[in-house]
Amino acid sequence: MELFQQIAPLRERLRELRRQGKSVAFVPTMGNLHQGHLELVRQAQQVADIVVVSIYVNPTQFGEGEDFEEYPRTLERDRVKLDESGATILFAPTDAEIYPPDSHSGGAAGRSLLTQVVVPGLSDILCGASRPGHFTGVATVVTKLLNIVQPDIALFGEKDFQQLMVIRRLVEELNLPVRVVGVPTWREEDGLAMSSRNGYLTPEQRRQAPTLYHTLQWICRQLEAGSKDFSRIEAQGEERLREAGFSPDYLSVRDAATLQPAKPEVGLVVVVAAAVLGSTRLIDNCVANLR
Ligand code: AMP
Repeated sequence: MELFQQIAPLRERLRELRRQGKSVAFVPTMGNLHQGHLELVRQAQQVADIVVVSIYVNPTQFGEGEDFEEYPRTLERDRVKLDESGATILFAPTDAEIYPPDSHSGGAAGRSLLTQVVVPGLSDILCGASRPGHFTGVATVVTKLLNIVQPDIALFGEKDFQQLMVIRRLVEELNLPVRVVGVPTWREEDGLAMSSRNGYLTPEQRRQAPTLYHTLQWICRQLEAGSKDFSRIEAQGEERLREAGFSPDYLSVRDAATLQPAKPEVGLVVVVAAAVLGSTRLIDNCVANLR
């Protein structure tokens, strides 16, 4: 696997590979890689000749008081994992490469750009309501990474359902020439969605953590069995989470196509939740077909 930290040599190498007729798949990450990330890489290998993975802990998607400083940076270990997984290129840019020093200050690490990609309707609800500016940070950096790598296909996890929708939307509306592919959530054996943040959990919290997914599954089963009283089900789900020691941020039945509150006649719904366990904020979702 080749490692690039700067944009210009990466672009040069990718130009060369494209001249040879190679197709490119791209998997953007923040590193501290787990099996979920590697599943994205595995699927990327099936759809393109070249797999580019980026590792970049993007300061502008972290809010004030969030875990930007503590976020695990494990580049050497990640590099070994990616090498073994068969990725072709690792792009691990420096901050100065993504946010050049002359850019205006702002954001958690005092860096941001004058140009931002904002997807208002999708960015200020659910996780965006609790994390103002988060999705603008994500949308802006993902747009930059897509422009830098110019992949044929980019893969994102369905675990971050709202993020995937924001990215699909910006790609469509800005006519970015890339196919966005969503990859199903990879889970631990007990159902907990794999996440770099699971490492923050104490052993006791780790035992409680799968309750988030089990609660979502319970709700999806109720919905598929015909239950239409969404607000009652949401309240019951939140209660289950509280009993397991979570502080729910939101738990909501949404239209899977728009992320707006689901109407009883809608076909496909996504039940999305974010809840804090100790000081760790976990998110998860499940999709139910009501037809
Ligand atoms: P992150 O490093 O958390 O920014 O995640 C990088 C990519 O991996 C995003 O597209 C995530 O949605 C995806 N991802 C993270 N965890 C999982 C998981 N458990 N299963 C599938 N994809 C995941």
